[in-house]
Amino acid sequence: MSIVDLYEPGEPVISFEFFPPKTDAGYRALFRTIEELKQLSPGFVSVTMGAGGSTRTKTVDLTIEITREIGLLSMAHLPCTGFRPAEVGSILDRLDAGGVHNVLALRGDPPADDPNFESPPDGFTYANELIEFIVEHDAENARVRSERFSIGAACCPEVHPEAPDAETDLINLKRKVDAGANFLVSQLFLDNDKFFDFVDRARAIGIGVPIVPGIMPIATVSGIRRMAGMNGTCFPDELEMELQRVEGDDDATYQLGVRWARKQCEELLARGVPGIHFYTLNRSPATREIYQGLSL
Ligand code: FAD
Repeated sequence: MSIVDLYEPGEPVISFEFFPPKTDAGYRALFRTIEELKQLSPGFVSVTMGAGGSTRTKTVDLTIEITREIGLLSMAHLPCTGFRPAEVGSILDRLDAGGVHNVLALRGDPPADDPNFESPPDGFTYANELIEFIVEHDAENARVRSERFSIGAACCPEVHPEAPDAETDLINLKRKVDAGANFLVSQLFLDNDKFFDFVDRARAIGIGVPIVPGIMPIATVSGIRRMAGMNGTCFPDELEMELQRVEGDDDATYQLGVRWARKQCEELLARGVPGIHFYTLNRSPATREIYQGLSL
């Protein structure tokens, strides 16, 4: 089943993102989370891959297990920094054999904890090159594939931190769509106006594929500030004031996180987004509370 088909006009598609845990206890907790979130009937779930492909085996195994054992449509994230084309080819073949035919094609970043990390000389520089490779590899293997791959890509409503300006970033985003990305999932944002403005600008330069907002419930004040800092995410004044009020109070922070994300989701859905992608951080309570407050 192709994820892009889910985004056909109709009911908005809810999806949940997980990351591969480091420990057995983490896996047990994740599977409890997935079972709880499965009750919300998500369209699909996705599994991240660590920077530099560090969790490649876990990511592939987990997406296959979620597909086969839990019965949810799943998508593997595939950051290409550090990979040779042949390695990407073998990951795609393993996913195909395991019944996973949806990938989020990303550039990724070098691992922050590995100062000696080097990309292979015949590797990929940008995500559009990875997408071109996936499309070609898929076409070459069409006769042995049970299904073709559907390809998602990332987008940054508030501009990727390395981009010189918003216009250049959009032109680069269009390269990914032109290369074969079927849908886009956004980086987190806390101000819906940034997202709506970005969608208008993307449509104006001819990007026609579904653009799905990514929502991260605030779990801790320090955590959201760190994530926002890495991605250049702005805090609306109202949220900034509320964050200062709840800082140090875990329960109040959790409640604020649910309230803010729900408010964002309500407006996004009212204005017709094709779906919402939740960054769950492998936990279910906040996502469940947000979801249950929505009129879906
Ligand atoms: P690109 O699209 O390649 O863009 C990166 C930068 O290069 C941008 O500034 C862009 O403007 C510029 N650029 C792009 N193409 C060109 C070109 N042809 N010529 C010149 N400049 C160009 N990271 C992980 O490691 N693992 C994950 O699982 C993961 N999951 C993610 C999920 C989502 C929904 C999102 C939004 C991000 C995720 N990331 C993940 C983070 C992502 O890898 C980083 O944001 C990374 O810095 C950029 O990836 P990209 O695919 O957007 O890169």
